Amino acid sequence: MTFDSFLTIVQERAWFSFTYDLGRYLIGASLIAALVWALKRTPIKARTIQNRSAKAKDIAREVLSSIRSVAVYAVVSMFVIAGFEVGYFKGMPSQGLLIDLAYLAAILLAHDAYFYWTHRAMHHPKLFGHFHSHHHKTITPTPWTAYSFDVGEALVMVAFMPLWLSFVVTPNGVLFAFLAIMILRNCMGHAGFELHPRWWLANPLTRWISTTTHHDLHHCGSFGHNYGFYFTFWDKLMGTEHPRYAERFTEVTSRPLEGWGAEPPTQPSRASVAVSNQSA
Ligand SMILES: [Zn+2]
Ligand SMILES: [Zn+2]
Repeated sequence: MTFDSFLTIVQERAWFSFTYDLGRYLIGASLIAALVWALKRTPIKARTIQNRSAKAKDIAREVLSSIRSVAVYAVVSMFVIAGFEVGYFKGMPSQGLLIDLAYLAAILLAHDAYFYWTHRAMHHPKLFGHFHSHHHKTITPTPWTAYSFDVGEALVMVAFMPLWLSFVVTPNGVLFAFLAIMILRNCMGHAGFELHPRWWLANPLTRWISTTTHHDLHHCGSFGHNYGFYFTFWDKLMGTEHPRYAERFTEVTSRPLEGWGAEPPTQPSRASVAVSNQSA
């Protein structure tokens, strides 16, 4: 591929790529934000996980840095598109529903493993400040936190796609479904409001799927736990699941329908967050 043909790809595809990913973010975050807004006006409003509220300046930072992440994704997408053009990456049509679902399960499992280990690595004291501290400026997550990354972290996040495509030729529809599920689960994990039913952790099938409380606990005080994204098994396997995760989930989902109940949830101070980070 010549430099000129790469420039043509940029001219023809960069804006579409940017608006596609921005659209995914805005639609995903708006849907979950609207759902949470509506649920907070029902008797289950007590499922708001933290007493602390996100401030307008926090949401503004999250939205602006998410737009910056989308710009990073668009730059990387130009190289991915070039990879398809020269035949390094290959696409393929649907292989039938069952096989497509198997591909979808495989990419979700691979992305969960990739997320767990890169996320855990970015908590290493030597990497945290360069990659991941920006995301953790958020103590009370909102759906808008989904792509609130520093440039380095956005690069790590988007790198999964070319890595996966280098090894696995994947049906095009599966890639679209994966991108849709990824942003929805990301926004749900940052919703700040427990969206999963009370029986979730008691059921042997669903307890492996992450909840909002799971990632909320990672943001609001214990940086040394709950690194997973879609599933909880890496955290269980590696002993990094928050020891009070089940207790906290049960507490949030058992709150009385009106008000906070007898025992309001306690939140760590910013100081304890800092201490927790030091020890992580
Ligand atoms: Zn987060
Ligand atoms: Zn983290």
